[in-house]
Amino acid sequence: MKYVLVIGDGIADEAVEQLGGKTPLEALDCKYINTLAGGRLGVCQTVPHGVAPGSDTAILSIFGYDPRTCYTGRSALEAAGMGVMIRPGETSLRVNLCALEGESFDTAKILSHNGGSIEGEEAVTLMEDLIADPRFASLAAAIGFSIHVTPTFRHTGVIDAAHEPDRAAMHFTEPHNILGSDVAGYMPAGALGNELTALMRVSFEILREHPVNKKRREEGKLAANCIWPWGPGSAMTLESFESLYQKKGSAVSAVPLVWGIAGLCGVDTPRVEGATAELETNYEGKVEAVLEALRTGADFCCVHVEAPDECAHAGDVEGKLEAIRRLDSRVVRPLLERLGDIDPEYRILLLSDHPTLLSTRGHDGNPVPFAIYDSRNPGTPRKFDEQHAKATGDFLAEGPMLLRALFA
Ligand SMILES: [Zn+2]
Repeated sequence: MKYVLVIGDGIADEAVEQLGGKTPLEALDCKYINTLAGGRLGVCQTVPHGVAPGSDTAILSIFGYDPRTCYTGRSALEAAGMGVMIRPGETSLRVNLCALEGESFDTAKILSHNGGSIEGEEAVTLMEDLIADPRFASLAAAIGFSIHVTPTFRHTGVIDAAHEPDRAAMHFTEPHNILGSDVAGYMPAGALGNELTALMRVSFEILREHPVNKKRREEGKLAANCIWPWGPGSAMTLESFESLYQKKGSAVSAVPLVWGIAGLCGVDTPRVEGATAELETNYEGKVEAVLEALRTGADFCCVHVEAPDECAHAGDVEGKLEAIRRLDSRVVRPLLERLGDIDPEYRILLLSDHPTLLSTRGHDGNPVPFAIYDSRNPGTPRKFDEQHAKATGDFLAEGPMLLRALFA
């Protein structure tokens, strides 16, 4: 028996005006996703009440770990995914490269939490030049702060143990939840708040007129001109996936968060060339990686597709629809067509980790629709969306019930 978990990040939503009051899933008719819904169809409260909804807390919960007890902060998970182990006493921070608009930092608005989808050499050059700038370097050194750079908008900051702040007294705003707002009201506050705000301010001064950003503006792109720290974390450990389920696992994703969760629980994370976490990604390569993992000994493989979430954060209705269509035709379809070659007996669990709302461009904590398909008993295809899933009355009260149901 083989098991596949398909996470369509943020595919669940609420009624959207541009879609005639339907959600994206309601507006679409996805043949292969609907085939999965022919098995079990219901809703699950992936993120416990009182816990901030995000892919970090939701995917931990889906993997079977209660975020209320094991979660030490998003950035600790991401750091692990980037190969940066956070040691006791150290504080990790997620550091985004964002796009702000405005003449001065104090009156700027945030236009993009991902620096206008910056990636590759441009992202690395901006971050490395920032870190090397003496104005930035001296402020960073004063709080023992260093940054691990990646060729994306996502970077990991670490505050050393000698400067350990009271993490419970650190307050941050998640940049993807305030798009379009004046940034002034959302600066880091509490422990090290002033110091981190000063680093953001100086980053804006250094990066605004950086040649990379001048070039990006000429090309009609947003300037990636400010760092944004958030999601403080500390050293974290998880019980191994294998001891929890007696299954050998693998996880295919383009985002460090998923690599980190998987890495901390001993699940393999094969990397796929050209997997970007955006709409244009290597869907075929990800499916091949899933099949290869299952062929070479894994019992379970998770495949995570980030694009619907990113499109929802961008307020891009058509993009989110297209991301779900591609999930259907380029991930679910080939899985249904080819998993049987590896083992005629397989199950697929498909779900949204959390809803991401086009209306607010932020995450939501409501239950998400899920489907469990069983090749031995496929059932009759039915519509996979929020309303149909809810209408079955099949309700899982917490995320860890999902994999138990998949493996049952
Ligand atoms: Zn998101």
